[in-house]
Amino acid sequence: MTSLSAIIQIAVPLPLRRKEPLTYDYLAGIAEGLPIGSIVKVPLGKREVWGIIMAHGASKEVRPEKLKTVSEIADCLPLSASHIRFLKAVSQWSLAPFGMVMKMMLSTPKAFDPPSMITHYKRAEDMAEGRMTPKRERVLSFLDDEMSLDGATLAAETGTSQAILKTMAKAGFLTSFERPKIDKLPEPIADFNPVTLSEDQLEIAKAISKQCEEGYSAHLLDGVTGSGKTEVYFHLVAEQIRARKQVMILLPEIALTTAWQSRFEARFGVKPLIWHSSVTPAMRRILWRAALQGEPMVVVGARSALFLPFSNLGLIIIDEEHEQAFKQEDMVFYHARDMAVMRAHIEQLPVILATATPSLESWVNALGDKGRDDKGAGDKGGGDKTRYQHWQMKARIGGAHLPQIKMVDLKKDKPPAGRWLSSQLIKEIEIALAQGSQTLLYLNRRGYAPLSICEACGDKAVCDACDSWLVTHRLSGSRQCHHCGYRQPLRDECHGCGTKGQMRAYGPGVERLAEEVGSLFPEARYCIFSSDTASRPEVAAEMIRAITENEVDIIIGTQMAAKGHHFPHLSLVGVVDADLGLAGGDLRAAERTYQILSQASGRAGRAHIEGKALLQSYEPDNAVFHALAAQDRDAFLALETALRKDAQMPPFARLAAVILSAGDQMLVEQFANQMAAQKPAYKDVDIFGPAPAPIARIRGRYRIRFLIRTPKQVNIQQILRDWIDKQPVPSGILLQIDIDPYNFL
Ligand code: ADP
Ligand code: ZN
Repeated sequence: MTSLSAIIQIAVPLPLRRKEPLTYDYLAGIAEGLPIGSIVKVPLGKREVWGIIMAHGASKEVRPEKLKTVSEIADCLPLSASHIRFLKAVSQWSLAPFGMVMKMMLSTPKAFDPPSMITHYKRAEDMAEGRMTPKRERVLSFLDDEMSLDGATLAAETGTSQAILKTMAKAGFLTSFERPKIDKLPEPIADFNPVTLSEDQLEIAKAISKQCEEGYSAHLLDGVTGSGKTEVYFHLVAEQIRARKQVMILLPEIALTTAWQSRFEARFGVKPLIWHSSVTPAMRRILWRAALQGEPMVVVGARSALFLPFSNLGLIIIDEEHEQAFKQEDMVFYHARDMAVMRAHIEQLPVILATATPSLESWVNALGDKGRDDKGAGDKGGGDKTRYQHWQMKARIGGAHLPQIKMVDLKKDKPPAGRWLSSQLIKEIEIALAQGSQTLLYLNRRGYAPLSICEACGDKAVCDACDSWLVTHRLSGSRQCHHCGYRQPLRDECHGCGTKGQMRAYGPGVERLAEEVGSLFPEARYCIFSSDTASRPEVAAEMIRAITENEVDIIIGTQMAAKGHHFPHLSLVGVVDADLGLAGGDLRAAERTYQILSQASGRAGRAHIEGKALLQSYEPDNAVFHALAAQDRDAFLALETALRKDAQMPPFARLAAVILSAGDQMLVEQFANQMAAQKPAYKDVDIFGPAPAPIARIRGRYRIRFLIRTPKQVNIQQILRDWIDKQPVPSGILLQIDIDPYNFL
């Protein structure tokens, strides 16, 4: 009797916007009886894709003869129920289709291939008679009768080669056979090289540790740079290693430096397992599978590590939790910090958010809406488990002092035209040079100059595809669009009128600042540290080495140089344009400026020299700068909390953006008007727009935005879903939803 195969529902990686994951019915075939969460390959149109079994039985009445059949079963364990719940939660939160969230998780296609085979050798049972050489002799005497070994190890152990082993097998001395390759991950050693924690550190580590067995808890580990936060969380990581659990550490890619990696290695005896975009497919496969198999491991990665299918997770750490790099704005819009907290909640785990400059969101989560710590460190927020516990570390280990921060009023101390360094800053640089200590000039602008104008016709050099200026890069001899990546050769000729020699550069970039440094301090050794000059990790590592070993006097750097490094010889930080981040004035401009400038200033005086930071500004009386100069971060956060609360802005309200874009301006405008006509009207819900985005065209696409604001307790996702479902999105228009946007361009 032929039994009709059972029917199963499978989610596939398609961008279909639904409340629930859209599943397709398939005949189970070879997948009959597989548990929910199993990964299987199915036909989809003309392709085959990997999908996830979401349910058994048909979703609706179907004619089985119309159904396609599962074609392959992935060679891996099924996903855990809680991991599927997490993926669903991300989709529901971000309003990104489940298929797209799932696609991020499945972005390691090699992971489902059967393991590769490798050749093993043993002695042949009936040893052939043949020419014997010393090498052959060594191999044979190494292998006793019972032993077999893989080719690579055997060759290494006997000082031969795999080619020799192969010919020995051919000649009948050895028998060869194939075995699946076993990927052993190096296991960190909990007690390889622990530091003795200070009393304060130990108290915090112990308090968090006590809760590690108790399900979800969230901890804001808040301490100045160098206060020993990393050692506190390493202590907790060590405990998880002893318990043979998995740990996920999220770090912004920029902070995942070789210094961080060496430090991990020094502490735990092995290199950390790293997960980010440039990890090889082979390594991705190994990590992905090990995560799913629940093997004890500590993975450190950029935001995409969030989606690894860990099945034995014991602890989540988000270092530099305030970093905007955790926000993804592409396909699925999500904030990795927030999603990591959500994952901890779903999987009932502790999560630690470490930072020297907390985000306002985390700050309010820890301290409540007054934004002031009136309950003392470690207060559990009235036993409310959704609140973060606040752990403060105020002093630098070893007593190094925080740098002295001073404002320079550029209105009074104005550099000459085409120059950017004030006389006060120049004087301080001279002092640093005379002392033999280093200076960091921080300017978050890549290239030579952000704007070029033709003096003859007044034309600006602009991108053809975006509403943006082309940035001059002298080092690479090009003008570049920082939005779409377009570059043209740097010519001294206007694209508009063709006049030669009249292109004038406006504003500074790091390259132009280097020119000024070169002419002011011809003897000084300087380097430019930006993503252009240190694009490859090896180059960045070499630059960091040279700086660390005092082979450089002046570092001219973008945020790449300003974050996370420990430069022991650095005593002076000059912030060339402190106002830069405040321009544009989006929701988080002040917060971001505070964070980056205190990070940049914090580079000075890390070891045993006193540090100083000079911030050049045209509005030195701005509250942000007052707080910075007074080193009163908490006052800044309290002020910012009050401002946001007054303005009814996040975290005291909810915000979402809807971004429509299309190559055809008419089409997108029409559709925006159609959506506008369908705007939902609820009390207390504001919908602003449609309005052209501040950068109205990127990569040739016209962009229109809506901004939605609701009170905190309102389900903003539901409102958006209802609204968007009212009209089908015409083809050619891309509709993106950004819940809790960070980018308002
Ligand atoms: P943070 O993460 O807050 O910036 P770190 O954990 O990196 O601080 O500590 C700053 C420096 O102090 C590091 O060099 C670290 O090795 C050292 N350090 C931290 N805690 C201790 C300790 N208990 N004993 C000795 N050195 C420590
Ligand atoms: Zn462009």
